[in-house]
Amino acid sequence: AKDQGKNNFQLNRAGKNKQVFEYMELENDLRKALEREQFVVYYQPQININTGFVIGVEALVRWQHPERGLVSPAQFIPLAEETGLIAQISEWVMREACRQARQWQVEKSQYFKVSVNLSSSQFQQMDLVDKVRRILQETELHPQYLDLEITESIAMHNIDFVIAKLKLLELLGVHISIDDFGTGFSSLSYLKKFPIHTLKIDRSFIQDITTDPDDASIVTAIRWMARSLNLDVVVEGVETHEQLEFLRTIDCDKVQGYFYCKPVPAREFERLVTLGELM
Ligand code: C2E
Ligand code: CA
Ligand code: CA
Repeated sequence: AKDQGKNNFQLNRAGKNKQVFEYMELENDLRKALEREQFVVYYQPQININTGFVIGVEALVRWQHPERGLVSPAQFIPLAEETGLIAQISEWVMREACRQARQWQVEKSQYFKVSVNLSSSQFQQMDLVDKVRRILQETELHPQYLDLEITESIAMHNIDFVIAKLKLLELLGVHISIDDFGTGFSSLSYLKKFPIHTLKIDRSFIQDITTDPDDASIVTAIRWMARSLNLDVVVEGVETHEQLEFLRTIDCDKVQGYFYCKPVPAREFERLVTLGELM
């Protein structure tokens, strides 16, 4: 048994070395990816279920890796955060998303908000507001068409700092959403202190919404709370017709999810909108 234990240890260490090696390789690749423009932005629509209209799109980054193929953000955003590369990647995503949104306005007369995710380190940056302003100027996108998504955990970090920063962004005219709402275990008192516009209800509450009465109650309660605070609600992760029908009964009319559309490249998104296939 002792020998076996030793062998296991060696096996584990070999496994760990392999992991460390892969990690370092990935970090190296991530640095090159920026120079070589290997990132792409996918777009997922937000739909008003009463009218069928696209009311917004969320920009979601992907990494087109030469050997690994399409790498999802869950696989490289944490690494990008750790290495500090997130700042450059995020700035690129924001510029690209604003440029694309403006192009849809000019070329197709399609006006909707584009939502960009802010990482926590990005939110801490001193020059975030200047960067956003500069990107809006460069791309000629009117601020009202940019929505910045921040998570509850960012919002809870240092409340006074966060309020000050959000107020500057509000002055700029951009829209602010709280992402993954309901997962942060945070005090709800911030909702009335922060200049925010929209709550995006996390998809973990939607998954079993038609069978789990607790989830149904939570989403219903968030809906009513948001209404009395004058906040908009977008429901994430809607996958089935049954979920959609339930949401209709509680007056949640803005949804984002696979039921309508997965995140797709810009050209594919254009094709779907033109064909009216989202409705
Ligand atoms: P998120 O901001 O919560 O984005 C929504 C995620 O849910 C996306 O995953 C989307 O593909 C997925 N999703 C949408 N509808 C459904 C559905 O009906 N069912 C299921 N199962 N999933 C659905 P994705 O694109 O893999 O992104 C994962 C996370 O990576 C994002 O979660 C966000 O936190 C982060 N991320 C993506 N792009 C960026 C970025 O440009 N910057 C930063 N800082 N983070 C990003
Ligand atoms: Ca998001
Ligand atoms: Ca989310």
